[in-house]
Parts: sequence; structure tokens; C-alpha cells
Amino acid sequence: MNNVFVNAEPILQTLHYHGYKAFFVGGAVRDFLIGRPIGDIDIATSATPEQVQGIFEKVIPVGIEHGTVMVRYGEESFEVTTFRTEGDYHDYRHPDQVYFVEDIQDDLARRDFTMNAIAMDIDGELIDPYNGAKAIKRNQIETVGKAEDRFEEDPLRMMRALRFVSQLGFTLSPTTYHAIQQHASLLENIAIERLSIEFEKLIQGDGAKHAWALFTQSNMEKYLPVLKEEPSLMKRCSNKNWLALGDFSEAICMFHILEPTFSIEYWVKEWKLSNKVKRKATRLLNAYTEWMQGNTIWAIYKLGFDQLPPFTRVINLLSSEEKLEVASLEKMYHHLPIYNREELAVNGKDIRSWFPNRTPGPWIESMLVTIERVVIEGELTNEKGILKERVLQWNPQEEN
Ligand code: ATP
Ligand code: MG
Repeated sequence: MNNVFVNAEPILQTLHYHGYKAFFVGGAVRDFLIGRPIGDIDIATSATPEQVQGIFEKVIPVGIEHGTVMVRYGEESFEVTTFRTEGDYHDYRHPDQVYFVEDIQDDLARRDFTMNAIAMDIDGELIDPYNGAKAIKRNQIETVGKAEDRFEEDPLRMMRALRFVSQLGFTLSPTTYHAIQQHASLLENIAIERLSIEFEKLIQGDGAKHAWALFTQSNMEKYLPVLKEEPSLMKRCSNKNWLALGDFSEAICMFHILEPTFSIEYWVKEWKLSNKVKRKATRLLNAYTEWMQGNTIWAIYKLGFDQLPPFTRVINLLSSEEKLEVASLEKMYHHLPIYNREELAVNGKDIRSWFPNRTPGPWIESMLVTIERVVIEGELTNEKGILKERVLQWNPQEEN
């Protein structure tokens, strides 16, 4: 048994001890069979959420209405979900009803793709009723059951299919692909928050380039916010040597650079993203603008150390020139004379005291930025006396 699963074995053993069935399921089993690094381990069991809560000491009810709880064990947490089937999805968001069932086979039948519908028991034996392992060998994504029905039931699965193309480098089976072409318009019924989660994972995959091409070929782009307004954008993306990006903010910075008609604010609003995403994307974009104007050091300073890898990804994606190494930016960062405004030898109070007759206002901030910039660019040393002399030259008292 793979080491990663070993840590979760006690959960299965405990459930067995209490008379319940329990298996490893979903992405972890799939990734194990592919030989990829395994993310979260999901466990499926015949025990109901209440029964799981009764057995383990630390259980967090994360999605109890869908049968899911989080079991904390040692240093780790495992998602434990009761075997279930689902009723209809009348609102395209949640199944109308979740039915708990006794048999793992019934649970596997509700899952989206054959590669995701494999269970593994504690001895490493597979329960694979849809030949998911074979599909994995063929690097193919195919739905469990008739693709049309499964996408009508939950159109999000179409977005998941493309995110797996990007993440795993797999292809869509012909029937899955054709069903997406036919049903792409159903994406409009899906809550954008659910789409965003899958879309972000897609951006993070190594095979995003293929996914972009599929968005166009399969019509999906026509039903996604912002992208539907500019059909050429996806095509332009698929022409780029697209790399795996870190998160949504890097992507919308990219999209905005490729198509300035859509502001970062607009992307954030339409995809219902957080302010954090907006702030990071804006920061990357501002740095990109400075960088393109040749203000390399200033761009690096404004980014901060943590944002150097995301910035490098954005630059490398956009440029056809030699790849930028994050280490070279980090080296430049370490040579900066200061790392933030607090380290500047001059502050707003100093400036006010040097211009006692001027009414305080935004001019103080813009003066500070100018000082900050000359220090960062190595024009002046970060010493109060030196900076004061220069400031007084810029703004003779009589200008007041
Ligand atoms: P990852 O490794 O990225 O977490 P995953 O396959 O585990 O990939 P999850 O979103 O964590 O993806 O879902 C866990 C499992 O639940 C999937 O493997 C699949 O079996 C099932 N599943 C998730 N979403 C759906 C859906 N919309 N329809 C049907 N089954 C789904
Ligand atoms: Mg998962």
C-alpha cells in the first residue's frame, strides 16, 4: 500500500471494526493509479454521518447534508462521505435529494468519470465497475454512463472534464467530447462559484493549452462569463505556450494583458472572485506595466518577494524571448536598498515639517513615492539629510 494511504488506514480499520464498509475513492485512487502525487484522501463508507460522528473523536460536519464529514486523525484530516446516490438536479446546482445507500457500487455509479469511479479497499484491491483503470491507461476521460445524461444532470461536469484535460494531460473520449459540444449551453445554469473552483484548477494544470483549444472547439467558451464576449481570446491563449499558473489572479492579469477591453475589476465581478484575487491581479499588472517600461527594480520592489514567482510565470507566458528565471529576480530583490516604505529614511511627518506653509494633502504621498523611487533606483542613498536636500530642490518653498 502506498505510504500516503497508510496514514488513512486506521480510519478504514476503525470503520470496519464497527461493522461498516469503507474504501478509498475518487481523486486519490485515480492519482495513485496514474502515478501522480496524491492530494486529499477521500473515504467512502456505509456508515451515516451521524454514525461516523459517533465513532471518531474529532469530526467536523463540513457537508453533512451531502453525507460528508471531516475526520481529524493525528495530524491529518480525511473527508469521509457516506455511500450515496443522487436524485434529480432540478436547479442544476444541487441534487434535489441525496439518498444514502449500502453498496459501494451504487455510490460509484453517481460519480462523473470512469477514472474517478474506482474504489480501493484496505488491501489495495480495486472495485472498478466501469473499467476506470483501463481508461487511465488510455489517458482518456469518459463519463460513467451516457455522457448526455450525465451532463444534463450536472453541467459542471463539462468544466471538470476540461480541468482534468489540463491537470492530467488526458484526452476526452469521442462520446464525451460530442456530448459537451451538444450540451455546452447548459453551463449557463451553473453557479459561477462552482465553475470558478474548477476553472482555477484548470489554470493550474500543465496541459491548459489543450484545454483552451477545447473550450473553443466544444463551444464551451460561448457560455462562460467574459470569455463569451471575446471569442478570439481563448484562441489567443491556445496559441501561447501556456504554462501552469498559480491561481486565478495570475490568469486574469494575463487575460487582461491579452485583451485590455476587460478590466481586472470586470473579471472579478463576472466570475465572483474575491477582493484578494483583485488585489493580487492588480499588483501583478502594475508591476508588468513598470517592467515593460524598463523600470525593472521598481517593479521588483513593488511586487515583494512572495510575488516574484507569480510575476515570473506571467512574464514567461507572455514573452517568446528567453525564459526569465525567478532566481535572477530574487537576487535583484536581495540587493534592494530598502524593502518597504517603513524603511525609508523619510516619512510623511518629515515632509510636512519641511514645508510648514503648505496645507497637507495628496502631494505628501506623491512626494514620498518619488523619494522612494529614487532610493530604490539607487539614485540617492537612503539617508535623511541627503533626501531632504533633494526634496527641497524639487519643491522650493516659494511654490507654496
Ligand atoms: P482532486 O484531486 O483535484 O481533488 P477529485 O477527483 O478528487 O480531484 P473532487 O472535486 O475532490 O475531485 O471530487 C471527489 C470525487 O467526487 C471525484 O473523484 C468524483 O468521483 C466525485 N465528484 C466530484 N464532483 C462530481 C460531480 N459534479 N459529479 C459527479 N461526481 C463528482
Ligand atoms: Mg479530491
